[in-house]
Amino acid sequence: MKKLGFGLMRLPTNENGIDIAETCRLTDEFISRGFTYFDTAAPYHGGASEKAFKAAVSDRYPRAAYTVTDKLSLFMIEKKEDMQPFFDKQLEALGVDYIDIYLIHSLSARSYKKAQEFGAFEFAAEMKKQGKVKHVGFSFHDTADVLDTILTDHPEIEYVQLQINYLDWEDDAIQSRLCYETAVKHNKPIIVMEPVKGGALVDISKKAQALMKEHSPSLSVASWAIRFAASLDSVVMVLSGMSNEEQLKDNLSYMEDFVPFTEKEFNIAKECGEIIRNDITVPCTACRYCVDDCPMNIAIPEYFRLFNDINRFGLPKAIPLKNSYKDISSTRGKASDCIKCGMCESLCPQKIQITKLLEKVSETFDK
Ligand code: SF4
Ligand code: SF4
Repeated sequence: MKKLGFGLMRLPTNENGIDIAETCRLTDEFISRGFTYFDTAAPYHGGASEKAFKAAVSDRYPRAAYTVTDKLSLFMIEKKEDMQPFFDKQLEALGVDYIDIYLIHSLSARSYKKAQEFGAFEFAAEMKKQGKVKHVGFSFHDTADVLDTILTDHPEIEYVQLQINYLDWEDDAIQSRLCYETAVKHNKPIIVMEPVKGGALVDISKKAQALMKEHSPSLSVASWAIRFAASLDSVVMVLSGMSNEEQLKDNLSYMEDFVPFTEKEFNIAKECGEIIRNDITVPCTACRYCVDDCPMNIAIPEYFRLFNDINRFGLPKAIPLKNSYKDISSTRGKASDCIKCGMCESLCPQKIQITKLLEKVSETFDK
């Protein structure tokens, strides 16, 4: 199987939500070029991603033409009895009789406790036994020692989905390299999420771009991020959340006949990671996991994006960025409204110190 998967979390949208006609065009092109892997989850696009998959793929292609991964999103489920109806609803929304890979969604030390209490691993195994799931696994956001514990407790797991990119490779909080090595130690094939870190590895500093262009003038900046992850031996799939034709065509151009990184390219990517690290103030990927539970309705990822932009672009962009902040905060909580309840931080896969950083956002935009 080709190593590029279509992540259905950033689909093209219009005034009605997901733009289904455009999604069909993108998925048609993807499949026509020999790619088959799709990844979705109930929370993506406010619940509309799974249905968009049905409209664009399962209603229009034979079952053998694609592989679909979906997730047991325990953070959307209140009691263990709800797992079965949640799963049944997913099959219906996807328009399939079985799911190829079913992942327990976003495990961490905290959510692992809930997964154990709910019997989530047993549930996934039962769905597999009934033929409604072909393979089981989990996606993961925590440190390598937690991953080691889960994989030791659950040798039946067949796939692990990890956040791997050249920026987080040596990061102390995300621990991409250590998590990769832990999964390899347990002989698990790895699926990679966030290879471009929610877009943060597309719009990078000029210095890092120059290093990449000097080596490969015709390759895009994004290609470095996707090829970095795909070049790792135990990585079987790299997800990319494609939103438009340009991104799709660029991804397909180097993933159709994929050539792994040379050692020199690995070193350039890691050097760029160091340069970018000094450039990004808040490593928010805009995953939005923190948004719904904020009691003050604070637009956390939007404010972090504006804060990063004002730090990167400085005075020339200060006025339009401050105006954007005013627009957003006219209907949402301001950064200064944060009551430090900590709910968001417990949900943030990037382990961002949100409350502390919102104080800085507030100093920049509320004054
Ligand atoms: S700590 Fe602040 S930003 Fe986070 S959920 Fe609570 S009020 Fe919202
Ligand atoms: S602050 Fe964390 S949880 Fe919230 S959108 Fe950013 S990365 Fe996601």
